[in-house]
Amino acid sequence: MTKPAYSEIPQPMDADTAVTAPPNKQREVIVIGGGMAGLSASIYLGRALRDVLVIDAGESLARWEPDVQNYFGFAHISGEELIKRGHEQAKHYGVEFAKDEIIEAHSEDGVFRLKSKEHTYSARRLLLATGVYHLPPRIPEVDACIGHSMFFCKDCDGYRVQDRQVLIVGTNDVAVEYALGILLYTASVTIATNGGTPNWSPQHDAWVKEYKVPVYLEPITAVEHEKGCMNCIQFGADKRITVDFLFTTRGDVFHNKLARSLGAELDEEGQLVVDHCQRTSVPGFYAAGCVTPANCQMIIAAGNGATAAQAINRDLFEESLATHSLRRHREKQLRTEQTDLQPAPR
Ligand SMILES: Cc1cc2nc3c(=O)[nH]c(=O)nc-3n(C[C@H](O)[C@H](O)[C@H](O)COP(=O)(O)OP(=O)(O)OC[C@H]3O[C@@H](n4cnc5c(N)ncnc54)[C@H](O)[C@@H]3O)c2cc1C
Repeated sequence: MTKPAYSEIPQPMDADTAVTAPPNKQREVIVIGGGMAGLSASIYLGRALRDVLVIDAGESLARWEPDVQNYFGFAHISGEELIKRGHEQAKHYGVEFAKDEIIEAHSEDGVFRLKSKEHTYSARRLLLATGVYHLPPRIPEVDACIGHSMFFCKDCDGYRVQDRQVLIVGTNDVAVEYALGILLYTASVTIATNGGTPNWSPQHDAWVKEYKVPVYLEPITAVEHEKGCMNCIQFGADKRITVDFLFTTRGDVFHNKLARSLGAELDEEGQLVVDHCQRTSVPGFYAAGCVTPANCQMIIAAGNGATAAQAINRDLFEESLATHSLRRHREKQLRTEQTDLQPAPR
């Protein structure tokens, strides 16, 4: 199957992940987003015997990385495989999944009410793990190179570009910092503004000059690659330079629309503000992964998810003491125990 365009990832409904339970049943926890953070959280919540539903549109960024090299315990694994394993692991602990996209959220009397095009859902605790969208550069045909020779993150992929020809595409301070950071891996680093005017700070401009980083201002008109491995970039009609790897710094769009409608606090960039337990400013509402200020890495997103799940579980436990639902559960246990101890009728 050909890989879909980065900007329009089609996700066929998978029988295995279709809604598996009545959507309108009230859950203890709903996790929106079944990527690295959401899956990790759901494994913890499943193992805590919580009634948890993961609602996922199936567009985890992890699927774009064919060779993850920085996930603890796996020297090489694809992002797709990590997601598949996480999904299987969560299902093993009774986590239910719905393949769906939530378009509306509000809370009422301590219950979160969610809507997709066709279903409604509700839960007493909500975890948002909807991630981010990295804007790709405006370069024709570059999609085929994503994850192979075009990257968004130097912390994930700097190691791979050692001693190769690297192009940073961007006009901002981040582009300059990427170029300087990549100098640790290779001597051949160039910046291209792709027709944009540099808007980096005077200090960054001074660094560009001090470190003698070449800057191309012309629009990029073509990229030559073989199965996603870049060979060369063309500027205008005929100027070409050899490029093995490209990093882009156009920016991120955080999937925070639902959080905004719930009234949660966001920072200047649009990331959800969370405390050390991944709690947002709205009681009962948690967030984890790249939709928060976590450095956007798989293992960090997964760790965030686990932290959120632990806090949610604790929160529900405290609620069960406050509302005496744990006592009712205990009374039922004791009644069953007594019945089991009755001598068998002759
Ligand atoms: C090309 C590429 C290469 C990468 N390589 C690496 C790497 O080598 N190492 C590394 O550590 N990181 C890498 N990353 C980053 C990594 O993919 C992310 O850090 C990680 O996936 C973030 O996890 P997350 O759970 O926050 O978001 P995601 O994994 O993106 O999951 C978010 C999920 O939420 C769903 N969703 C969003 N909105 C809704 C909604 N309204 N309703 C229902 N579902 C919704 C999405 O469909 C998606 O499935 C790479 C990213 C890219 C793009």
